[in-house]
Amino acid sequence: MDAHAQAAITHVFLTHAHLDHIKAIPFLVDNMVSTRPEYQLTVVSGIEVLHDLRCNIFNDRIWPDFTLLPNSDTPVLRYQEIKDGETVQVRGYSITATPVHHAVPAYGYLVSNATQDAFIYTGDTGPTDSIWKRTEGHRVRLLIVEVSFPNELEHLALASGHLTPTLLAGEMAKMPVIPEKIYITHLKPVHRDAIASQLQALKAFSVTILEDENELII
Ligand SMILES: [Zn+2]
Ligand SMILES: [Zn+2]
Repeated sequence: MDAHAQAAITHVFLTHAHLDHIKAIPFLVDNMVSTRPEYQLTVVSGIEVLHDLRCNIFNDRIWPDFTLLPNSDTPVLRYQEIKDGETVQVRGYSITATPVHHAVPAYGYLVSNATQDAFIYTGDTGPTDSIWKRTEGHRVRLLIVEVSFPNELEHLALASGHLTPTLLAGEMAKMPVIPEKIYITHLKPVHRDAIASQLQALKAFSVTILEDENELII
């Protein structure tokens, strides 16, 4: 992503603080602080996730505290807390947080527009309930959900707060209406082929595996 594209990012709705989900943020703000004085990134998440970022990454040891740079009045980085069930408005979209079931505090997001069309991004999660209940009153047209492990590693998936293809089918059975499009992310690379064929074998719905370079315009 070039600097121009990076500068268009004003908000990050962070699901949780695991490294694979936060790793771009330190370099994004570092690129921007010295090149775009007007740039500001707001990281929105639950209080525990923001605490992890503040104390373990932007702690003036691992990486600078960018909430003080270039100065504390107009910093390049801001944190914004969102609570369970709370909605933040950004660019005409309403984004509502719901805790999901992962190894660390984690949130999924329901994103809806004025006509109640919506999509869900679960982030990393094992079997969960609240986020599926959050769909009531919305037309969920699209779901982005993780499947990290193949069926034979279900014990590992459950222990680490992740899904397998079979566990995903169980989650979909909890939704009042299955979304038109289901995108799968977060496949463990060494198990990718096994997961892909097990996903294809699911009968109740079809899915698309999301690739790194895919851009979804919704
Ligand atoms: Zn994770
Ligand atoms: Zn992850």
